[in-house]
Amino acid sequence: MDQFDYIIVGAGSAGAVLAARLSEDPNQRVLLLEAGRASHFYSRFPISFGLLINHPTANWLYESEPEEVTARRPIPVPRGKLLGGSSAINGLVWVRGQPSDYETWASMGAPGWSWEDVAPLFDRIEDFERKGVAGRGNGGPVHVSVVPDRNPLYEALFKAAGEVGYRTNPDYNGEDQEGISKTQANIRRGRRMSVDHCYLDPAMPRPNLTALPEASVRRVLLEGTRCVGVVYSHRGKELSVRAEREVILSAGAVATPQLLELSGIGKPEILESYGIAVQHELPAVGENFRDHLTPRIIWRVKDPRLSYNHKARGIGSVIEAFRYLFTGGGFFSLPSAPLVAFLRTSDDLATPDVQLHLVPYSVKDPKTRKLQEFPSMAIVCYQLRPESLGSIHIRSADPDVAPAIRFNFLDAEVDRRTLVEGVRMMRRIVDAPAMQSLRGEEFSPGRQVETDAQILDWIRNNSQTAYHPIGTCRMGQGPGTVVDENLRVHGIEGLRVADASIFPTMPSGNTNAPAIMVGEKAAELLR
Ligand SMILES: Cc1cc2nc3c(=O)[nH]c(=O)nc-3n(C[C@H](O)[C@H](O)[C@H](O)COP(=O)(O)OP(=O)(O)OC[C@H]3O[C@@H](n4cnc5c(N)ncnc54)[C@H](O)[C@@H]3O)c2cc1C
Repeated sequence: MDQFDYIIVGAGSAGAVLAARLSEDPNQRVLLLEAGRASHFYSRFPISFGLLINHPTANWLYESEPEEVTARRPIPVPRGKLLGGSSAINGLVWVRGQPSDYETWASMGAPGWSWEDVAPLFDRIEDFERKGVAGRGNGGPVHVSVVPDRNPLYEALFKAAGEVGYRTNPDYNGEDQEGISKTQANIRRGRRMSVDHCYLDPAMPRPNLTALPEASVRRVLLEGTRCVGVVYSHRGKELSVRAEREVILSAGAVATPQLLELSGIGKPEILESYGIAVQHELPAVGENFRDHLTPRIIWRVKDPRLSYNHKARGIGSVIEAFRYLFTGGGFFSLPSAPLVAFLRTSDDLATPDVQLHLVPYSVKDPKTRKLQEFPSMAIVCYQLRPESLGSIHIRSADPDVAPAIRFNFLDAEVDRRTLVEGVRMMRRIVDAPAMQSLRGEEFSPGRQVETDAQILDWIRNNSQTAYHPIGTCRMGQGPGTVVDENLRVHGIEGLRVADASIFPTMPSGNTNAPAIMVGEKAAELLR
């Protein structure tokens, strides 16, 4: 088939969902172009989060520009590069966000995206393992389970959190996010519930859907201010294909602004500096970039059996591999964190402003996720709704040159204050009496890092991200935005964006579920 109604660029959390939903109508011919390969053997196993985070065949392996604010360290920016996109390599923590996040979106020029509008979409996506829970979905494509793993360390952490005033929450995706909880994960009986598996696989037999892996889109084709197709490369050949109706960019928050700029849509000074003719002036492309900066504290654990560090190597990993093969459980079936907490750094706040991931192991090198040799545990923290804004822009007219990623972390005073307090909260939990018999000394950063200035300096020098880039094609009205509430690129006909780049602000939590929601919403808008 070489005639298509819709061309979708990128088969990630939003793009794969959109392709699957649009092709439910047999009269719509849908082409899904994905730069990465069709699959990776590891991606079906939850442990692939650690295995693919630094793997060139399934990951774009971007890095940020060195910036003074983070001690000139290039920070890894992994992104999935295969059918399923980042949903096929991510940490599987399932979070919808707070209702007020979406109220904020609606109030920022995106009517139709309020909580009342998007909650039914989340319900439609989910197949939550608990049946009939108010405000949760059953029977949707993505199975969501509560981590079944048990460990005395978890019991102690729940108790310790209680001792310092944080309550236990049985469902942080329900009405109230606040508290410490067992993680909800998009995992079913040990298998990753990525969008390629949950949405694309069942849609693939449809004759009106063509999903083409290893097809890297170079730019969109414009005739005046109308988008009529795309140029892509496939197995060494450059090809073009036309869309009778629309092109939808779902290449993610890093690649979508890059594709717009390569197509001549963006800030004229940037385009002209790389010899790209300006087709349409849209200065907000690549701006409004946010991510979660994540300081990580590591503690030694007194009882070596409670830490999982030994499960990633030697005989420990063989035992875990067998356990996984025969039961679908154990270390290899865990999401990136078995416990999460959503907390308020101040009583004055109406809702949580930090998220903690509590893990019964610790990594030596966050880039490769190699684990420490000694028994240990870690807690990472991030500010849920960071206000510092960075940017992602091309640094070449060559589509194969990665764009320049500038986080500009810690620029806003509230971000600095919240993270410093977050570090103190993590310590408060582990210092509580219930952890007394289990915790060893704080290994990193160590108690010599104590004052606000020392903590902030340590954060600048050591933190990584939660891999949640968003906002670079912000939705809304007026200057500062790229798409309208119907996801249409301002000023261009036949071109929309549907991925995490359209988020006007950061949802309070991990970003996969909201990106899938964008795919569902886009399908509704296009239908
Ligand atoms: C390591 C990691 C861990 C994470 N952990 C979690 C977690 O635990 N929980 C959570 O909720 N979220 C997590 N996230 C974030 C979440 O997965 C993403 O926010 C979400 O998947 C983004 O969806 P998207 O549709 O915007 O982009 P993506 O899913 O990244 O999809 C973009 C797709 O476009 C393709 N593409 C790019 N350029 C081109 C081109 N030129 N031509 C064709 N195709 C192209 C890419 O290869 C990719 O398949 C994690 C992400 C990563 C990388």
